Parts: sequence; structure tokens; C-alpha cells
Amino acid sequence: MIKISPLNSELSECPSCKSHKTTTKKILFPGIHVVADSVCNACNLEFIQDLPVGHGCYYPVSINKNTEDVFDHFSIDWFTQNFIKSYFNKQKIDVSIERIIKKNQEDVIIINCLDYLYGHVLLKLFNVQFYKEKHPDLGLIVIVPKNYLWLVPRFVDEIWIVDLKLNQLKKWYTSLSDSINSYLTEYKTIQLAYNFPHPYTENIQIENFTQVEPFALDKFESQSLNITYIYRTDRLWHRNKMEYFFYLAFKKLNLLRLVEWVFMYVQNRNIGKTEAILRKSFPDLVFNVVGLGKKGNFKGRIIDKRVDLPTIDIEIEWCKTYAASHVVVGIHGSNMLLPTGLAAAFVELLPIDRTGNLTQDVITRYTGRIALFMGRFISDKSSAHLVANQVKAIYTGWPLFDLYTSPSNHSYDLDENQTFLNVLRSRVRLLFKS
Ligand SMILES: [Zn+2]
Repeated sequence: MIKISPLNSELSECPSCKSHKTTTKKILFPGIHVVADSVCNACNLEFIQDLPVGHGCYYPVSINKNTEDVFDHFSIDWFTQNFIKSYFNKQKIDVSIERIIKKNQEDVIIINCLDYLYGHVLLKLFNVQFYKEKHPDLGLIVIVPKNYLWLVPRFVDEIWIVDLKLNQLKKWYTSLSDSINSYLTEYKTIQLAYNFPHPYTENIQIENFTQVEPFALDKFESQSLNITYIYRTDRLWHRNKMEYFFYLAFKKLNLLRLVEWVFMYVQNRNIGKTEAILRKSFPDLVFNVVGLGKKGNFKGRIIDKRVDLPTIDIEIEWCKTYAASHVVVGIHGSNMLLPTGLAAAFVELLPIDRTGNLTQDVITRYTGRIALFMGRFISDKSSAHLVANQVKAIYTGWPLFDLYTSPSNHSYDLDENQTFLNVLRSRVRLLFKS
């Protein structure tokens, strides 16, 4: 963590002479970034520096306040370049903050979850549990965009709600920084959370965030197969490389809106076909489609829960749908975070250009071999047959897989007259009969 109150006199490294003999005059909170306004005592450089919060841990950028020279060794469009652009185009509008104070604490950690990407806000928010467990003696202050209030765990001491939409959060808001600075005087000590952008998720208790309990594995076998497809309109399930090529070509020529319906039709057909294949083997199948954008319809007994504009009530309802699902299926992206955290298992359709982002968009509920069994990645050009086969393999394969793994994973009630092996073998016999 980074102590910002009382201010550490050597918080910044001078980007010019690399001296740590610096004085930070003020900490700024203009939005996504937390920034030190500093001066170097060795070479007198006055500079602002992005502090190590979120992706700032890895890509520190500084700007000379007088000459406006930029020290950016990374030049990452979506992160460092955004930071630089926002600094040189400060917004003058008043941004309102609502403070919910549940418990007054003198010594606090600030967890800044502001970001312009949906998944990044969620992932930053998941850090809250780590800091709660690691520092139970310190108060937790979480800064979130307004639409995320419903996901903030109840154990947080203070929530500062920023009334900005995600697409506004790329910018630098001086009024936001001033408001936050005026609150900081109320605390004895303040530390900033590093807020790792992709924190370990194995220990996250998703119900602390969604208020919905995840799928309970002990009910896996007793319930009819329940599948949820996570739908997107901006990243599609294509049939093959040729079709994907045409999709990209139309997109590049800016003609996609004219033929978009064709690609949506193909995606919907893939989803419908998956449902039809699975229903042949599992007549009681429950098959939901959840997501943003109601493009086209579905045949058969698909339960269509898509909307164009979700409300919080709808998002909570979607969480309940994920939590009732044996398997969620969907294309790679932050759309998979909450579904994979709540369902028992997932099958993700992975576009080749997202291979480098593997697992960044899922919450892995398990570790080791179970995590691999319950979380599967296949190409986004897979057939409906392949997707259905993966779903089937998880649903029908899990009970035996579960028995094959270490007895420590089992919670069978063993009475005095029955050995563990007898229980195991009788369960296997039942499986082979069914
Ligand atoms: Zn210097």
C-alpha cells in the first residue's frame, strides 16, 4: 500500500534524475488515476506522476509541469496515452460525489475502482476482499461509479459514489479531485490500495458482491441440466474463418450496420442449434440467453432474458440465472466475469486475437485439475456440436470425475458400518446404471 497521509516525503521518483529526494505537495484524484504532484529536491523538476494503483503499478508515467515534457516509456494507447491526453484536456464540469459512511474510521485504505472499462471496475472492486482480510483493523473506503453501487460488499466502511458513466471516466476531472481532497482531512492515516488489475479470484466470495450465492456443487447431479448463453452483439460467435473474414471486411469498410443482421442471424442460429442438440439428450433442459442487445429471436424452448438497457433489478435477476446454471457459455470478454463466478462451470469461446488475455475475464472458483475440468476454452469458430459436447462432458462427466479425485474433496456421511470405499463404489454403480 502507499501511504498518502501523512504524506511520505519521498513518495515519487524523479523521472529525470531518478532521485528519490522528492517532495509531494498534493495527491490528486482526477478519475481512474491517482496522481502525485511533486517536486525533485535534487534537480528542482516539478512534475506530476501516476501512482502505482491498478495498471499504474506497471506503467508509471510522469509529466514535467513546466515544459509539458512527457516521461512515458510504454506508450500504451488505452492506458498511458489516455492518461496523458486527459491531463492536457482537463474537464471543468462539476462532478458530484455521494458519500455513504457506515462506520467512522480514523485509519483507512482507499480503493479507487474508477475505470472506463466495465470489467476493469469489477476486477478492481474484487480487491476489496483481499484488503478486508489482510487489514481487518483498517477502515475501507471504496470509490465507485454510480452504476456499481449494488456490487459493493456490505462490509465496506465508506462508499464514495461518483456520478459519472463509464464512457466519461477516461477524462480528468479537477472538481472530483478537489472534492476527494476535501474529505481526506477527516482521517488520521490514509493508504492507497495497489488494486491489482487481475487479482487472484479463487478466494473471492462472489456472494459478498452480488448478494447471490453461487451454484452449490452438492446439487450438481440432482438438478436438470441448466445452461445460460452470455450474449453480446459486438463480439460474435462465428461459424468459420471465412465468415469472420467477411465480418472484419464489412467492419473495416464501415458497412457493418447494413449487413449486421446476417451475422446476428448466424450467431442466433448457433445458439439455437446448441440448445436443440442438448435437448435431444436432456429433454428437461433449461436454456437461457442473457445479455445486452435484443437482436433477432430464438426458436424452440430458449428462455430469452436479453435486454437493450439493463436495470440493477435485471442485473440481479441475471446473477440468479447464472447461479442456477451448471454451465455458462459465451464469448470472451468482461461479460463472462459474473457468470463464471456464479455458475458451476463455463465454456468460453475464445477469439484468436484474445489469446493473450486468457483467463483475465473469468472468475475461477476452483484450483488445480478441477479448475481445468470446470473451465474450458475453445475457439470462437467452434461448431454448435463442439460446444454442446463440451457442455455434455462437464454435466455427465463431473460426478465420476468428482469421485476419482482425492477423498478430501468429498463430504459423504460415513456411518459406522460402511467404509468410504463402499460408499464410493455404490455411487459409481449408480452412475453407470443411469
Ligand atoms: Zn530530479
